[in-house]
Amino acid sequence: MARRILATQSKTPKRFFLYTFDRLLNTAASSPAAAFTAASASPLNLTGSPATPTVDFTDTSALFGSLSTLELLRAAANLHLAAVGPVVDAGIWIMNSKLMDVELIREAILGSVKHTFYRHFCAGEDDAAVRKTVRRLHDVGLRSMLDYALEYADDEESCDRNLDGFLKTIEAIKSLPPGSASFVVAKVSAICPLRLLERVSDLLRWQHKNPCLNLPWKFKTLPIFSDSSPLYHTLKHPTPLTPEEEKSLQISHQRLMKICQASADANVPLAIDAEHTKVQPAIDYFTYSAAIDYNKDHNPIVYGTVQAYLKDAKDRLLLVTKAADNMKIPLGIKLVRGAYMSSESKLALSLGFPSPIHDTILDTHSCYNGCASFLLDNVVKSSSGVILATHNVESGKLAAAKAYEIGIGKLKHKLEFAQLYGMSEALSFGLRNAGFQVSKYMPFGPVDMVMPYLLRRAEENRGLLSTSNLDRKLMRKEMARRVKDCMR
Ligand SMILES: Cc1cc2nc3c(=O)[nH]c(=O)nc-3n(C[C@H](O)[C@H](O)[C@H](O)COP(=O)(O)OP(=O)(O)OC[C@H]3O[C@@H](n4cnc5c(N)ncnc54)[C@H](O)[C@@H]3O)c2cc1C
Repeated sequence: MARRILATQSKTPKRFFLYTFDRLLNTAASSPAAAFTAASASPLNLTGSPATPTVDFTDTSALFGSLSTLELLRAAANLHLAAVGPVVDAGIWIMNSKLMDVELIREAILGSVKHTFYRHFCAGEDDAAVRKTVRRLHDVGLRSMLDYALEYADDEESCDRNLDGFLKTIEAIKSLPPGSASFVVAKVSAICPLRLLERVSDLLRWQHKNPCLNLPWKFKTLPIFSDSSPLYHTLKHPTPLTPEEEKSLQISHQRLMKICQASADANVPLAIDAEHTKVQPAIDYFTYSAAIDYNKDHNPIVYGTVQAYLKDAKDRLLLVTKAADNMKIPLGIKLVRGAYMSSESKLALSLGFPSPIHDTILDTHSCYNGCASFLLDNVVKSSSGVILATHNVESGKLAAAKAYEIGIGKLKHKLEFAQLYGMSEALSFGLRNAGFQVSKYMPFGPVDMVMPYLLRRAEENRGLLSTSNLDRKLMRKEMARRVKDCMR
């Protein structure tokens, strides 16, 4: 079937492309690494120029035509403000300061944030507001990934409260127009106490080093580590889980199962966020064991997240894909670069180990593009699904060109591009105009709950804010065009 689409859509010299494609499909790679190299070595891989320029930024009326001038003005103003380093610095300082303990000051700050950054980057405070935002996006051809923006939990009561929030989010999706909500987002650290995630990660790492270690609580899962995974977080034999910890693990697992079941019932896939490497092994363990239970009948319900900034990302992705293939499980993967840059490097340095993050940004770009290429090939070959979450225009364009070339259709294959709500509008609309499914990742919830999350994002993605340069430039161009039109 892929070949049929390919034959009708490809604009590259057909014989050359079919040869490459057949070779890719038929190459019996001897190892996961060989499979990856084979995919990346294709002339249509994501390291060269796209053969078909499908994402176009030249026509600003086609990009922003669905936004009113007021919406455009507001978006441009907020992006300009967010790009001013001292404004972001002051915001982070104030939110973390004791000033926030003074009721009046707190109200004033949250009030002004609500009408600026919150309004720009968040979907709303309650069900009604979120529904309105989702419908507005749906009307302009974008979908929504709903993220009830919770921070990590320390105790069982908070985990239960958070579970309730996730379940209500899934329930609310049922009353939205079909297809308008593409995914529901969850963080494992919001439903399992953080300390327990650290303990479980330690034990999983120790078992990887010492395969004879028995972990009686462990369910069947997909590979969590590769030979290149750093294990420096666990330098000595961790003690086994206590009966209380085992009980807490079991309850946390049940919470995740409830979320998965609700997602399956609503037929809305669940995207589980990746966090920092100290707890990520436990998050992958939870995610992949849930995927084994819920990803059935060519329908991946549970999506895990791979962070391409990690040096071992590619190797782990290959192992997990191969294992899922062998077990006939449709795999769901969200690919991101990663948002914990500074804390990862700091932790590794403090323990005397090299950072787990690629030494250069170019290595990260190349890893992201290589993994995206590999995942797109996998989407064609199997019933797996992929979310390419990025604001990077080059990565977006390259992936779009490859997806187009290998015939990944809008409905037949599970490919979703995704950007944060309020970020990279030009890329989102450009991809939409090129015929792809595009989602906005939308945090929502009360202002005071969401703001720490947004500020953490701003802090971690300081460089990312400058990616709004393109948006600001194109928005200015579109506003000038509209003014000129009015004066004619
Ligand atoms: C829909 C969506 C979901 C997301 N979910 C997650 C998630 O679950 N977990 C998570 O961790 N993040 C998540 N993110 C955040 C994502 O990781 C950030 O968007 C990312 O940090 C920016 O990458 P980009 O692809 O947008 O590319 P760009 O805009 O090109 O960003 C590049 C950034 O990468 C960073 N970087 C990476 N490697 C290096 C290096 N070696 N040297 C220097 N800088 C480097 C820098 O901060 C730089 O600013 C998500 C993002 C989106 C859009």
